[in-house]
Amino acid sequence: AIVIYCYSANVSKPLRAMEKAASQLASGQTVEDIEVVSANDEVGRLVVAFNTMKQKLEQVENVRRDFIAGISHELRTPLTSILGFVQGLQDGLVPKDEVPVTLNIIQDETRRMINLTGEILDLVKLESGPGELYMERFRVFEAMAFIVGSLNINEKKPGLSVEMICPEDVYVYADADRFRQIMLNLLSNAIKYTDAPGKILVEVKDQESFTEFSVADSGIGIDAEEIGFVFERFYRTDKSRHSNTGGAGLGLNVAKALVEQHGGEIGIESKLGEGTRVWFTIPHHEAGEIQSSADSEVSFT
Ligand code: ATP
Ligand code: MG
Repeated sequence: AIVIYCYSANVSKPLRAMEKAASQLASGQTVEDIEVVSANDEVGRLVVAFNTMKQKLEQVENVRRDFIAGISHELRTPLTSILGFVQGLQDGLVPKDEVPVTLNIIQDETRRMINLTGEILDLVKLESGPGELYMERFRVFEAMAFIVGSLNINEKKPGLSVEMICPEDVYVYADADRFRQIMLNLLSNAIKYTDAPGKILVEVKDQESFTEFSVADSGIGIDAEEIGFVFERFYRTDKSRHSNTGGAGLGLNVAKALVEQHGGEIGIESKLGEGTRVWFTIPHHEAGEIQSSADSEVSFT
């Protein structure tokens, strides 16, 4: 009886520990890993699985906390600045000739917030599952010309020249809206982080199993130490944080998620002071698949 008692106490000890840990987790407390006595039996394996689940839950919780902290910080900055300027206007502290400039700042900050909330909505959509892709077959040349044209780069930053190298006969099978968003995110970075006079080169190369798109600029570039982090959410390099470029550090993160949704890859190369090149790929899909959607070719004009 004593042997059986000792044995069953030993077996049920990790089970009791898990029960206690589960209820602590449920009430939002942090819990230490449960000790694995032997990883070879069922109870041992259950404890290992429990610890893994607990670590994953903690990770999700940390991501959620960082995400909310990041959003609150990013929203607070433009709101504080808008409030300051509006109060200045109300109290008559802004000289008459500076009113238009002040209103422009308020407009810019408001736009920044609208962009940010748009990006946050995209992220939330991406977070809540892979989402449906409306795959269509479209001609890259047309799409790229439309996207680059819609940016009005000459007006936004006179002195930036844009060149596009794209074969006319390349078709891609992708979600056209999301493709446009990826390109816009990369192009807006190239514009933002390149001082005039400068050059932006958009290139499309069709390879055997995928199409490669790239946006290269002759801008400020990224430090080798920082380049590993630019795809992370809310990450902005020191240089861009200090300059007056705005932005929340979400654009590349969203672009990466969208590229990966299409089964492609994304990468970045950069040299500080010389420029940056961001590339991504969209894989070719089964010929049958492309054929079936050939009727639904989209037009960008
Ligand atoms: P958002 O895109 O959310 O408006 P953002 O442009 O700062 O803000 P990302 O597009 O994610 O954010 O880019 C992250 C960081 O990577 C930028 O803040 C910038 O420091 C750096 N970066 C991205 N693209 C370039 C580029 N073409 N040249 C130089 N630095 C870049
Ligand atoms: Mg950006």
